[in-house]
This record gives sequence, structure tokens and C-alpha cells, in this order.
Amino acid sequence: MIPSLIDFFSPSNFKHFASADKKRFKLTVFMCFLSLTVGIFYAVIDLLNSVHYALPIYAILISTPFCSLWLLKSSHIVTGKMILLLAALAATFFASVSDPFEAGVFMIYVPFSITSFALVGFEKRWINFLFCCLVGFTFYLAYFGNFRLPYEQNPPAHYLAISLIFNFIIAVGSSILMVYFLIELNAESETELREKEKDLLVKNSALEKLNQELDRFVYSVSHDLRSPLSSILGLTNLAKFENDTHELKKYMNMIQERVKAQDEFIKEIIEYSRNVRVELKSEEIPFHAFVFQHIEGLRYLEGANNINFEIDVHERLILQSDKARWKTILSNLIGNAIKYHDHRKEKRYIKINATLTGSFFTVAIEDNGSGIPEEHKDKIFDMFYRGTDASTGSGLGLYITSEAVKQLNGSIQVNSEYGKGSYFIVKVPVLNSAKT
Ligand code: ADP
Repeated sequence: MIPSLIDFFSPSNFKHFASADKKRFKLTVFMCFLSLTVGIFYAVIDLLNSVHYALPIYAILISTPFCSLWLLKSSHIVTGKMILLLAALAATFFASVSDPFEAGVFMIYVPFSITSFALVGFEKRWINFLFCCLVGFTFYLAYFGNFRLPYEQNPPAHYLAISLIFNFIIAVGSSILMVYFLIELNAESETELREKEKDLLVKNSALEKLNQELDRFVYSVSHDLRSPLSSILGLTNLAKFENDTHELKKYMNMIQERVKAQDEFIKEIIEYSRNVRVELKSEEIPFHAFVFQHIEGLRYLEGANNINFEIDVHERLILQSDKARWKTILSNLIGNAIKYHDHRKEKRYIKINATLTGSFFTVAIEDNGSGIPEEHKDKIFDMFYRGTDASTGSGLGLYITSEAVKQLNGSIQVNSEYGKGSYFIVKVPVLNSAKT
């Protein structure tokens, strides 16, 4: 019931409140209902005991919560809270100047100062400070001023006893409640702070990694874009003074090779940026045809025609995933398996296997190419890392591949023996999105 009442009295911008302010708001609504209950409760006890002089006090306790709740609802949060506190203080003052000292109303002054801190918060501490002064002043007036009201001087003894007990319970109970609330708020803020700190540390290390990558990126891109241009410039200078058409053709071919390499490099940079920025899509990928399509697209690579492709993928295997990421993964892994083949071996092969086991989709690409020396294995997934002088690529392919696999929440591993061949395995969770 209380949560729905809180929703009902929340102002329209409640969802933008900080969590501590939300808690304070809820406590205020709770205090409104407490004031209402206490007012009704005392009024009933007084009426049952035929004590009528304090009824105006209970009228304040009963009517103010409505006013306060209306102010809260219309976004006058601090005013709503202060009205409630001031009305309760006024009621306490009237009770203390009308009830005999033995009724124990003076105890109620204790939780007042804590309540204002709990309700209004530390940011508006000057309001709390003023309110505390007012509480002290009211207490002084009530017990040391000349303010005794000419009400009944001798209420029944059992009435005094009941009042003393209830005032004690209210004073101690609300003090404990307020202190508990403040401690809880503090503990929550500490936990929140710790979580945020953890979050910040993770973000910071990601940012540091990104910064290092950016440095490497700028260095390598500028170097790799410039070097083919310098060699093209050199070749054109040579060509200018060459009359032999055979030699000229040779220079033209060399220029063409350099331009092709640079074009490949730029394509990889574009692929890298697309992989980072473009959102994941969920598309149906008929995987068997998809693999064949990629092999056909890579046939132009040197030596590809002398390699035997063994494909073990179910013909009706449909993968529900991001096509562009899988294109990146397959073209880089198959492309490398072709590029780094071992031309000294008579029977060269590339085996591609795709399986669906449980909720994982696994693709394995195996070759009997040159293999990767032990000292390079850990670094081949790094940005711009080339593991061999035979590489004419950018050293970006496996980095982009591993980033694409990461985006699919998967993992990529490599087993390789130098001179024997390599085995790349990509494992991606599919959550019932692949079927045969
Ligand atoms: P690039 O091929 O442009 O050099 P990659 O990131 O694709 O860059 O690969 C990084 C390095 O990993 C390559 O330079 C090569 O040394 C090694 N490598 C990748 N795949 C294979 C493979 N199938 N066989 C042997 N070496 C490989």
C-alpha cells in the first residue's frame, strides 16, 4: 500500500531524483502518515478519557499531512517537508504547555532535530540548523517561559501514565528510525561510491588501452600510408628517365603492386572503423553457402588454386547472427590460411569445420601452412602486428577478427606449430539462433 501511495504523491519529475532524495521523499510521505495516525490515535484516547483540551493539537497533526502531501505532489518538496516539521513542532509545543510535565511531552523534542536532517538532507543544512535552533527555542519557551495554557490541570493519573509511555515510545522509536535511516543512506551512498569507483577504474583502463591503440594506430597508419607513396614516387622518378619500354612496364607493374597494397590497407582501416561503429544486426546466414562464397572471393590470392579446401559444414546450417562480422572473421582467417601456405609442401590443405553444440556455434579453420613461431603466438591478435617478413599485409587482420568475435561475445583461440600448420577456432554463443 505504502509504495503505491508514494507513487501517487510523487511529483512528475520524481524519476530524475537522486536515489538519496527519493528515499528522503519516501520517508516524508511515511512521516505524513505517521503524523496522521498519531493525531487520530491521541484524539481517540483523549475522547475515550473525556479529555478535550488537546483536540486542537490533534487537529494540526491530522490536517497538516494533507497540506504537506499536496505540496510534495506539486514539486514544492522542501516547503512540504518544512510545513510537516513545523506543524509537528507546534503540536509538540502546545502539548508541552498544556500537558503536565509528568506526561513526558518534552521527550518528543529529541527526535525533532535529527528528523529535519533526515528529511531535508545535508545540502540544505542551513535550513536544518535554523530548525534545530527553533526546536531549542520552543523547548525553552515551553518549559521555562510563562506559557501554561489554562486547560485542565489535573488529568486522570492513568491518562498521564499512558501519555508518558506513548511519548517515550514515539521519542525513542522515531529517534531510532531516523538514525537508522541516516546510517542506511550513508551505507548505500558508500556502496554506490565504491561501485562507481570500480566502474571508473575499468573505464579508465579501457581508455588507457584505447589511447595506446590510438597512438599505435596513428603511427602505423601514417607510416604505412607514406611508405608506398615514397616508393611510388621513387619509381616514377626512375620511369621518367627510362626509355626502354620493357623496363617501363616493369616499373608500372611495381607501381600497380604498391597501389594495390595501399588499397588493401585502406580497406582494412575502413573495415576496422565499421566494426567498431556499426551496430550488430541479426540476420539469417546459410553458413554452407556463406563459406563457399568466401572461398570463391579469395581464389585470386596467390597460391589459392593449389590448395585443397575441405569443408565440413552442414548444408542446411542456418546461423542467426551478424553477417558483416562473420564476413570479417571468415575472410581474414581463410585469407591468412591461403596467404601463409607452405609452397614447399606437396599436399596443401585448408579444412573448415562449423558445428553447433548446445548453445555454441564453433568454426574451426585448419591449415598445413607455415605455422606461427612460438614467440609470435601471443601477439598476432595485436593491432598492426606482423609475425613474419613474408607478410605484405597491414597486421590488422587478426586484430579486427578478434574485435569482431568479441562483439559477438565469443572467443578466438589459436594452436599452431611452426613448420606444420595452424588451427584457429572461433566459439560464439548463439542462444537458439542457429539451426540445421
Ligand atoms: P597480416 O596478415 O596483415 O600480417 P594479421 O593480423 O592477419 O596480419 O596476422 C598477423 C600475423 O599472424 C601474420 O603476420 C602472420 O605472421 C601470422 N598468421 C596469421 N594467420 C596465420 C596462418 N594461418 N598461418 C601462419 N601464420 C599466420
